[in-house]
Amino acid sequence: MAGYKPGEQPNRLDIVKLNTNENPYPPCDEVMEELRRMSTEDLRRYPSSLAREFCETASKIHDLGMENIIATNGGDELLRLAITTFIDPGQPLGIADPCYSLYPVLADIQGCPVIQVPLDNQWEIPDDFSYRLNKYEAKMAIVVNPHAPSGRLTDAKRLAEIADEFRGVLLIDEAYVNFIDPELGYDSVRLVKDYNNILILRSLSKGYSLAGLRFGYGIAAEEIISPMLLKTKDSYNVNAVSQRLATAALMNIKKAEKTWEAVRKERIRLSIDFKDMGLSCEPSQSNFILVTVKDRWAGG
Ligand SMILES: *Cc1c(COP(=O)(O)O)cnc(C)c1O
Repeated sequence: MAGYKPGEQPNRLDIVKLNTNENPYPPCDEVMEELRRMSTEDLRRYPSSLAREFCETASKIHDLGMENIIATNGGDELLRLAITTFIDPGQPLGIADPCYSLYPVLADIQGCPVIQVPLDNQWEIPDDFSYRLNKYEAKMAIVVNPHAPSGRLTDAKRLAEIADEFRGVLLIDEAYVNFIDPELGYDSVRLVKDYNNILILRSLSKGYSLAGLRFGYGIAAEEIISPMLLKTKDSYNVNAVSQRLATAALMNIKKAEKTWEAVRKERIRLSIDFKDMGLSCEPSQSNFILVTVKDRWAGG
């Protein structure tokens, strides 16, 4: 099999680094203060295997119960956990193409064939997405929303429709959800109350400026969360330091919101600049913009 190629992480200050979509602003002061407060005792002992404090904080923010949250070592661990828990080797995974290139690699590790359904020319999920995946008896479908690399947002109503029609688990990868314009009123989390086949991925890497910490979480009905939480994950999958810092980050969500607002402002400014330069770009609800580069720019 071919492994996943992680983005290059150059250690130089003279580079404007855009390749892995990190938040350009730092995490809030409270996160660093929590780090300074860590004691030797915190390191000597094992951490909470269920990341209790974090899950409590996250469940309050999302107005759900503790049983609806699982903390993971980055969103990436949740992807791996979900695939190994809900798809047996040989059973297919469905994806909307193009998408995050880690999905097919994880499917390959589990020995699962991948069914790729191409997005239409507006980067939208085609109407027959579920139908095509059901035909091949796919056990799980992954969609990334807002979509990478286009930045396009699928609304929650359409996601509910897909969950209704699809006969497996629908994993919605919301790594970039924090950058959505709040005026759009996007809310997929409430769907987990009505759909026991929806699993939402959240990450602290982009929205909370904590890619180095490695922390993400899943939101779903208890039937989806509990097998991963109690059976298939490593007992101590998130370490003591990351649990404390991630909790501090979520408790100070207002500080992170300021960075989301700043990213949205820059996104508009940059899109206008690109258009002024004669380059067309997709309307983005994320912290990146997909720009079509003309021939005269190529290699220039
Ligand atoms: C960044 C990202 C993730 C998860 O990243 P982690 O750093 O592992 O939390 C998941 N999906 C997409 C599409 C991403 O860009």
